[in-house]
Amino acid sequence: LLDRTAQLDDQIQAYLAVLADQALAQAAEADVRRQELHGDDLAVPHPLLGVPVAVKDVICVSGAPTTCGSRMLENFVPPYDAAVVTRLKDAGAVLLGKTNTDEFAMGSSTENSAYQVTHNPWDLQRVPGGSSGGSAAAVAAEMVPIALGSDTGGSVRQPAALCGIVGIKPTYGRVSRYGLVAYASSLDQIGAFGRDVRDAALLLGTVAGHDSRDSTSMPLPVPDYVAGLGAGTALGADAAPDLNGVRVGVPREYWGEGLDEAVGDVVRAAIDQLAALGAEVREVSLPHTDYALPVYYLIAPAECSANLARYDGVRFGLSAPDAPDIWEAYRLARERGFGAEVKRRIMLGTFALSAGYYDAFYLKAQKVRTLIKGDFDAAFEQVDVIVGSTSPTPAFKIGEKVDDPMQMYLSDVFTLSCNLAGICGLSLPCGFVGVPEETDHKPAQLP
Ligand code: GLN
Repeated sequence: LLDRTAQLDDQIQAYLAVLADQALAQAAEADVRRQELHGDDLAVPHPLLGVPVAVKDVICVSGAPTTCGSRMLENFVPPYDAAVVTRLKDAGAVLLGKTNTDEFAMGSSTENSAYQVTHNPWDLQRVPGGSSGGSAAAVAAEMVPIALGSDTGGSVRQPAALCGIVGIKPTYGRVSRYGLVAYASSLDQIGAFGRDVRDAALLLGTVAGHDSRDSTSMPLPVPDYVAGLGAGTALGADAAPDLNGVRVGVPREYWGEGLDEAVGDVVRAAIDQLAALGAEVREVSLPHTDYALPVYYLIAPAECSANLARYDGVRFGLSAPDAPDIWEAYRLARERGFGAEVKRRIMLGTFALSAGYYDAFYLKAQKVRTLIKGDFDAAFEQVDVIVGSTSPTPAFKIGEKVDDPMQMYLSDVFTLSCNLAGICGLSLPCGFVGVPEETDHKPAQLP
C-alpha cells in the first residue's frame, strides 16, 4: 500500500502525511504478535491485527503532525494519541498516514484545506466531498482498506457518498472525542470508512466504547457490529438478506427541490430493492427538515467560535513573533493562521452568541434543534430505519462551489439533521451517476 500510495497520491493528494517508518515498524510488530499467536489454538487475533488504517488529520497521533488542514497548526505534533488511535494500536492496526481535510473540518469538498486539494479517484476533475475527503479518497483509490473521519454535519457520510464507499457516523457519545480536535463539540463524532459495510463495522467496533476522558462518551457496552450483519453479508456469502419485518421510512421532505434527478432515481431503485427483499416501505414525515440547515449554521459556528478561541498564537497555534504588542500578536496569528471559511464561521458564531443576539439566534436554534430531534423520535415510533439520499448531487467539479458558501452548505442538507438529533447515519453506495461506462465502474484513470 505504501508503494501504491507513492504511485497514486501525486494525483489524488489524499494524504497530508504518509507515516511510512511508523507504519513499517507497526507492521513488523504485528507480524511478531501474529507469530506468537500461531500455534495457540485458542488465540484469536484481533481482526485488525496488521491491517493498515488512515486517520483524518483532525485526530491526534502521537509524534505525527496533526495540522487540521490549517496553517494555524502547521507545526503541531501532539505528544499523545487520541482515544481512537490508542484503541487501533492496541488492536495491532498499522497507521499508514494522516489524511487531508477541510480546515478544522469546515467544508464539504476538502478544497478548504490550507495545503492541497484532494481529487476524487473516480474522476480527478471532481471533489471527493468533505470534510473527510482525504480519508474517503484514500479508501476509494484502494490506497488503504479502512480509514477514520469525523462528522459534524455530514463529513463522513457525504464524502463516502461522493467516493462510492461506505461511511458511518455513529450515535453521539458512541466513540470518544478525546484527541479529536474540536470543531462543534455537541455535533462532532468520529466515524468509519470502508469499501463495504463489514469493514466499516469492524473499524467502528474497534474504536467505539466508553472513555472516562470524554464526559459525553456513553457508558454502554459495544455490540458486535459484524456479528449483527447476519449471514447474507458475510464475505463470500451470496444468500440475499431477508428484510421481512423491517420497516423502512422514506421521508416525504427529502425528495424536493435541489435533489438531482438522476441521484433520486438511483435511490428510488435502492428503496425498491429493499422492498423486493421483504422490507415494508412507508412514507414518514420529518416536518422540521427545512430548519436543519439554518439551525446547524448557527449552532456549529457558535461552538466553533468558542472552540477556536484557544488558537491565539500564545496558548496554541501559529505565533507572530514580529508583532509589536500582545493585541497585535493575537490579531496577526489569527489573520495568518486561519483561512477564509474558518474566519467566516468564527464571525457568524461570535455574532450569534453576542449579547442582544444570543436569545434571538443561538437560543432559538437550540429550541428548534429539539424539534428536529422530536421529528426523528416520532418517525422511529413507526419505522426501524429512515432512507434517503446522502447528498443531493453526485461529486461536483473542483472549483464549482468553492466561492459560493451557500451552495457548498447545501451539500449537507440531508445529513445535518442526524448530527442535530444525535442519531447515527450510514452512507451506503447504491449506484452511480455520471460515471462513464468505459471505466467499467472502477476508479477512473487508476491502475
Ligand atoms: N459541511 C459541513 C460544515 O462545513 C459539515 C462538516 C463536518 O461534518 N465536519 O460544517
